[in-house]
Amino acid sequence: MKRFILAYPYQSSIIRWMIVCFLVVDTGLGQSASSPEKYDTDAAVEAIQLFQVIAEGRAVADAEWERVFREKGYRSYLSYSDSLYKKQLLKRMAALVFDPRRSSERDSVLALPIQLDRQGFELMLAQNLFALSKRLDEAEQFLVNTDFANVLRQADAIARRNLPSTIEAGYDVLKDVQFIVSDADGKVTNHAIVVDVNTALEFGPEGLVNLIAHEFHHDYRGLTLRQPTSAFGHELNRLHQEGVADLIDKDVPPVTRMGLFPESVVALYNDLYMSTPEILKTFADRIDEHIAGDLTQEALNKKLRGYFKFGGHPNGYYMALLIKDELGMPPLLDTYNDPLAFVQLYNQAAKQRGREHVFSDTFIAYALSNY
Ligand SMILES: [Zn+2]
Repeated sequence: MKRFILAYPYQSSIIRWMIVCFLVVDTGLGQSASSPEKYDTDAAVEAIQLFQVIAEGRAVADAEWERVFREKGYRSYLSYSDSLYKKQLLKRMAALVFDPRRSSERDSVLALPIQLDRQGFELMLAQNLFALSKRLDEAEQFLVNTDFANVLRQADAIARRNLPSTIEAGYDVLKDVQFIVSDADGKVTNHAIVVDVNTALEFGPEGLVNLIAHEFHHDYRGLTLRQPTSAFGHELNRLHQEGVADLIDKDVPPVTRMGLFPESVVALYNDLYMSTPEILKTFADRIDEHIAGDLTQEALNKKLRGYFKFGGHPNGYYMALLIKDELGMPPLLDTYNDPLAFVQLYNQAAKQRGREHVFSDTFIAYALSNY
């Protein structure tokens, strides 16, 4: 099963985890009254219908594609960035994968090695569509027959168990869950939680619940998070955000499989996870160099932006697991919206464990005044 929501390194601008500011009103009605029933499958259903047309050897007019792209799910997905590129890519890969006259060309494309670059992203999209092409009927049945209201209720309950009770009582789920066909991923946008339907099938019912619970956690956390104002703060925030949410839905590394991701990506993820002590030390070294006057603010920012790969997942998860093992879950729950507390808890846990990177007092002081 694919157990990861991750950003490829070059995708850091795409995966922005935009946070919305809502006025939060405590309904006082408790959890039972706030069960979410907000989901939308139209975009995925209509995309699959277009794929079936292509598979019959017929052409799909641009106007037909545009009609699908106007569905809510695609509007959310395309609102990230590069919407023209994403649209063209999806059309191009759908034609390659589903047009029966192009099967030999398709097979040679699917056999190309995947690197972590833009071409790799395109190839993985093609592979995801190809996997979907083998189970289009199953996907349609899934979209029509799944009790998504129940999936969302279960996901919400899990997310709330990983948050303080103040959230449990007072907040309501903020975002719709929308299913589309895209790269193999689930993402939080400023409008919605957008999930690729083949990814949902890969996860299976329980995995899908956990995937959405992970995204709901981001959603609730964003309500009261103090937003970072520096490149440094942004990186700390990413570590914390993904680290604590990964406690909900990720297996403890090393992992052997990450859905449709190639072995090279799985190996890179495991490497990054295991190298967390050195990666944190190098991060702190950059700050020391800056404090010593050897690195200008501009040069520091450049080095820090996107420093933690995979959207912060492997290193943040390493830190969160260390805290959980040494100090238990309660302090992680209490500080669910505070990346600075997360770093300090990590330090306490790292000292207790031994043989881990411990941030210096200078680093902690810098963090507190430069978030
Ligand atoms: Zn996440």
